[in-house]
Formats: sequence, C-alpha cells, structure tokens
Amino acid sequence: MLFLAVLKPDGAIRKASGAGILKGLMDSGLCRLCSFKEVVVPAQLLAEHYKHVSHRGFYPWLIRYMSSYPSFVIFVEAERENIENIRRLLGATRAHEAEATSLRYRYCPYGGANGVHLSEDERAGRFETKLWRDTLGIRKGQFDIPIEEYIDAYFDKPNHTLELRRIFFEIAKGNSSLAEQDKRIRELLREESVGASEDRIEFLYWVLTDQLE
Ligand code: ADP
Ligand code: MG
Repeated sequence: MLFLAVLKPDGAIRKASGAGILKGLMDSGLCRLCSFKEVVVPAQLLAEHYKHVSHRGFYPWLIRYMSSYPSFVIFVEAERENIENIRRLLGATRAHEAEATSLRYRYCPYGGANGVHLSEDERAGRFETKLWRDTLGIRKGQFDIPIEEYIDAYFDKPNHTLELRRIFFEIAKGNSSLAEQDKRIRELLREESVGASEDRIEFLYWVLTDQLE
C-alpha cells in the first residue's frame, strides 16, 4: 500500500543528510519511493496533517519549520507489515534519542528537526496520501529528478551531524552556551548546505536551536 514520506526542509537543505536518508530507505529493500516533488508545503495543509499535535508547545515551531522552505514529497509503496520496520530504520521522533543504527542518528543532530516524515501506520498512510495528493496534485510516478541522481549528487557531501549533536548536548547540559557555539554551529551548517543562501543557513540555525535553551 501507499504511505507518505516527506524529506523535510532541514533534510533538503543539509544535502548529505537528505541523500543519506533517501539512500537508507532505498537500500533497505523494505519499500519503493514512487515520487520526488519539491514543494513549499502550505501551512493550511500542515494544519490538517499535524492536527494531532496542534495542542503541543512545539506546534508553532513545527508549522514554521515545515512551511518556510521546500520539502520533497515522496509517495512510498510498502507492504503494510513493513511500515513499523521502516519507521524503526528512520529512528526516534526526536533525533537526539534515535538509536545508533538509525538514519536519524547518522543524519539529524537534535530535536524535532528530524529530516523526514513517514506515515506511522495504515490509517495514517491512507489519510495522508489522500490529503497530500488532493491538496498538491502530486501523483505517484512524478519525479523532479531521479532519486538515484539526487543521491549521487549529494551523498558524499559534508555531514556534521555527530559534531553538531555533540555541541547541542553540551549546550543542553549547560556545559556550554549558544553564544559560545554560535559561530561554529553556523560554520558546520554552512558547509553541509551545499549551495544554500545565507537565509537558509539562518533558518537551519533557528530550527535546530530554537528549542534548545
Ligand atoms: P512522528 O513524525 O514521529 O510520527 P509526531 O506525529 O508525534 O511524530 O509529531 C510530528 C512531528 O512533530 C515530528 O516528526 C517532529 O518534527 C515534531 N515533534 C514531535 N514531538 C516533538 C517534540 N517533543 N519536540 C519537538 N518536536 C516534536
Ligand atoms: Mg506522526
């Protein structure tokens, strides 16, 4: 059956992160990626999609995070019994809690900026694929660029996930401060975000640090 995956704006801007997540999904043999369309996701669609967390404190952050820059919409074909394993391969929702074997551990440094969305079960798969298809007009089989080409272009670009996570943990523990690490964080993000304009670096910095202190 069909599920919805979204390469979120952080995964799209941090190039090796996005390419690594896509490669991990493709190499897993657990699913097939059947579309790859770049869109700035409308806030109204996100309000429907994320209704279940609209009461949470992080919700305003989440909507701004998801609607400010382009994402890639990916319809995913998988056996329904595989979805749990694919979600496990992605790792915990909060990236700093992701297991060392997961993709988020390798590619997403910290917090709710977790690089990628995937429908959590059959019911969500049905609801989300219909909602996103009806709202955006994207269909299975539509690709802006073949995913293999995207992976080849970006997989070996710099990935500073582990170093960034180390810094964020130091700040979270109170051993360092954002003011002290500010320059280094921006430097690492700039290096990962091949070809990105400075406003995208600022966006990433905000997404990753807003919930830190
Ligand atoms: P998932 O995406 O793993 O199914 P949820 O549906 O609970 O998780 O939440 C939707 C999105 O909201 C998450 O992918 C993540 O980006 C963000 N999020 C969830 N929980 C938190 C949290 N405790 N702190 C920050 N962001 C969160
Ligand atoms: Mg969910």
